[in-house]
Amino acid sequence: MRPRSCNPEFFYPVASPVAHTFAGFWTFLLLTVRSKMRLVTACRQYLPQLLLLVLIANFADIDFLFGLHRSFTHSLAAAVFVALAVSCVWRIAASFWRSAGLYFLAYSSHLLIDLCTGTKLGWNATASDTPLFWPWRKDFGSPLVLFVGVKHKDFAALFSMENLQSSVYELLIFGVITAALIVLWIRHQKGRAMPHQCKTPVRAVYNSNPDAIE
Ligand SMILES: [Zn+2]
Repeated sequence: MRPRSCNPEFFYPVASPVAHTFAGFWTFLLLTVRSKMRLVTACRQYLPQLLLLVLIANFADIDFLFGLHRSFTHSLAAAVFVALAVSCVWRIAASFWRSAGLYFLAYSSHLLIDLCTGTKLGWNATASDTPLFWPWRKDFGSPLVLFVGVKHKDFAALFSMENLQSSVYELLIFGVITAALIVLWIRHQKGRAMPHQCKTPVRAVYNSNPDAIE
């Protein structure tokens, strides 16, 4: 194992709630992609569902409140358990399994982001140890670090320039991905509405110009 925690300079890198909140929003986009309403309207109408998915995407870090770091809450077993348990209580989609699937995606997005969070960007061994397959006692970390974790040792570290930089970087990356997903979401909705609208004009053009190459 990597003896990183023995190093006094070492800090456990954690992705900020900003990253996990964005990921929760992505699962909301998946939930509402079949709706025929505008995104703003969907957010307003399904606000409780949106908040729940964001909460689930952040939930694994609840161990932090108990002084733990990357405990069993950061495992696939916990993701499955939470997904099934919450789906029993509230089905946000048409079926139990679709709801559970969305909850699972929201929860496991947290694990994926944490796996790729370290102290230095790029191919290195600084990614956080995550007990992905708990109760198997082996920790995992991605060899490719995509996000720099937030320093949280004390107040000075928390409000340091490095933390500001990594937060801005996180905002940028996740903001761009979110913008791209929103564009796809809107295009998908328009695509579903198009066939009915286009049928007649396309046939009309074809009939008026039978020599046109299709
Ligand atoms: Zn976490």
